[in-house]
Amino acid sequence: MNINFSTRLIDWYADHKRHLPWRETSDPYRIWISEIILQQTRVAQGYDYFLRFIHRFPDVRSLAEASDEEVMKLWQGLGYYSRARHLHQAAGSMQGVFPSTYAEVRALKGVGDYTAAAICSFAYNMPCPVVDGNVYRVLARYFGIDTPIDTTNGKKLFAALADEMLDRQRPAVYNQAIMDFGALQCTPQSPDCLQCPLVDGCVAAREGRTAQLPVKQHKVKTSCRYLNYIYVRARANEKEYTFLKKRTANDIWQNLYEFPLIESDAPLSEEAFKRLPQLSLLFAADELSTLHVLCRDVKHVLTHRIIYANLYEVTLSESSAALTDYIKVDVNELGEYAVPRLIQTFIETCIG
Ligand code: SF4
Repeated sequence: MNINFSTRLIDWYADHKRHLPWRETSDPYRIWISEIILQQTRVAQGYDYFLRFIHRFPDVRSLAEASDEEVMKLWQGLGYYSRARHLHQAAGSMQGVFPSTYAEVRALKGVGDYTAAAICSFAYNMPCPVVDGNVYRVLARYFGIDTPIDTTNGKKLFAALADEMLDRQRPAVYNQAIMDFGALQCTPQSPDCLQCPLVDGCVAAREGRTAQLPVKQHKVKTSCRYLNYIYVRARANEKEYTFLKKRTANDIWQNLYEFPLIESDAPLSEEAFKRLPQLSLLFAADELSTLHVLCRDVKHVLTHRIIYANLYEVTLSESSAALTDYIKVDVNELGEYAVPRLIQTFIETCIG
């Protein structure tokens, strides 16, 4: 442990710490929920989700006993839905009690090295160093390390360094301090080196290399997908219905619901879409004559993917035999289904 380094970080933290509900507790269940929410989500966005989640599921047992549908619905809009599925599965495996050893916590579905270290240090004050993006950045800059952080060597090197720097008397507060320091002081684009308590020992600041560190070797490739959705209007018994399907494949948005979909390899003009043979497998000719566009070229960005989506509308006759493989939903109950954010946007902005 470098006493100077850890003491200065902890002193800085005392003045700058963010007061967040999951910081004011040592309940491992709440800390776990917050860590999973914050894995791919900014604090500002995750804050209200955390409060709603904890309000509805205050403990392991209430989460374990909930339905998949309810958990997914509460998660709707947060993205990365496998996190919600894993939370639910993990809660079901706990028999009502949150585990208390590092090995048991690490073995929970959806919990990796970082999350296990965060839970065990914050809840149980175990000497487990956290290594997240903030920690990589602070350590890479302070020590001037240009080994890429996304390589096996880099991961080992930074894990060992994080362990060496950990304040073993105060692991919880040290871990929170270094992560907040990375998030607020040593930020990716504009680190505040002038006001930094670590500046006199910082290699990157001394050598003018803050913009070059940390180094990443692999650039993430982004691919495009083209989704053509169909909002179906159907009437029966003086009610209006539409149709949904649950996404079950091991793909984006697993277990969420969506409108009937035809995915294409390339963008399709409205005319080209109307000529697709798949349409006549879904609808009768007179139904297809009602097909028209509601929204086009909606861009939706996910990590590693850019989605371009169109929404069309088809009206069914009362005696229609179309879409027997789909769930027929009263439009007034559409809000009860967990849907991807893209579908929610369509519902809110394109469907009259
Ligand atoms: S001096 Fe600058 S680069 Fe170095 S730790 Fe402080 S904020 Fe980060």
